Amino acid sequence: MDFSGFEKLSLVDFDDNLTATLFMAGCPFRCPFCHNAPLVLHPERAEKIPFAEIMEYLQKRKGVLDAVCISGGEPTLMPDLEEKIRAIKGLGYLVKLDSNGCNPAVLKHLVGEGLLDYVAMDIKNSKTKYHATCGTQINLAAVEESVAFLLSGAVPYEFRTTMMSEYHDEKDMVAIGEWIAGANRYFLQRYIDSENCIKHDFHAIPLEKALKFIDILKTYVPNVGLRGYDD
Ligand code: SF4
Repeated sequence: MDFSGFEKLSLVDFDDNLTATLFMAGCPFRCPFCHNAPLVLHPERAEKIPFAEIMEYLQKRKGVLDAVCISGGEPTLMPDLEEKIRAIKGLGYLVKLDSNGCNPAVLKHLVGEGLLDYVAMDIKNSKTKYHATCGTQINLAAVEESVAFLLSGAVPYEFRTTMMSEYHDEKDMVAIGEWIAGANRYFLQRYIDSENCIKHDFHAIPLEKALKFIDILKTYVPNVGLRGYDD
């Protein structure tokens, strides 16, 4: 399966690493705030980028770029993901995986094989609002299994939540905090609308309220921060 998007340089995807980001098409979730609507809703129409082209670029940038982020859609659904990661790591790159946690078996396997250097997993909301926030019925047990696996510390990771006034409140933060208590790192991300979102007209959580959420979460996850509130 080919990747459908290729950002040749990102300074924000993986800490301080100079990173190239690959996007695959297809996802079982339908998060209304998703920024990759074309990849999620119409994977059959997505661009197909020959992997050889990507490898050629990565080969040339060895020593300049540090890492490759594999994002989606939901990359764990890619049948030949392992093979592709092995090829990328063979060039000496760090590999970060973005995932919604729907496929714990693949996540565990890739970590077990030593193929992932970092995992960023979405926590869409408290469990009671999970399906609504994902825009469809999802396999919550699978998400819970992925959360428990990452909490076990088998690989460096972060959890992250994109917050919207319509979906997230203080009670959700308490419930999420209890769920992921002791996590390495957790980020609350500001919702931003764009033309590529699945739905529109939601509202970002104002800074003051986001800081209140941080106060609540600190009890459970000391290393919690905001993203997207710098301006
Ligand atoms: S935000 Fe992530 S999990 Fe949600 S629909 Fe988009 S790609 Fe899928």
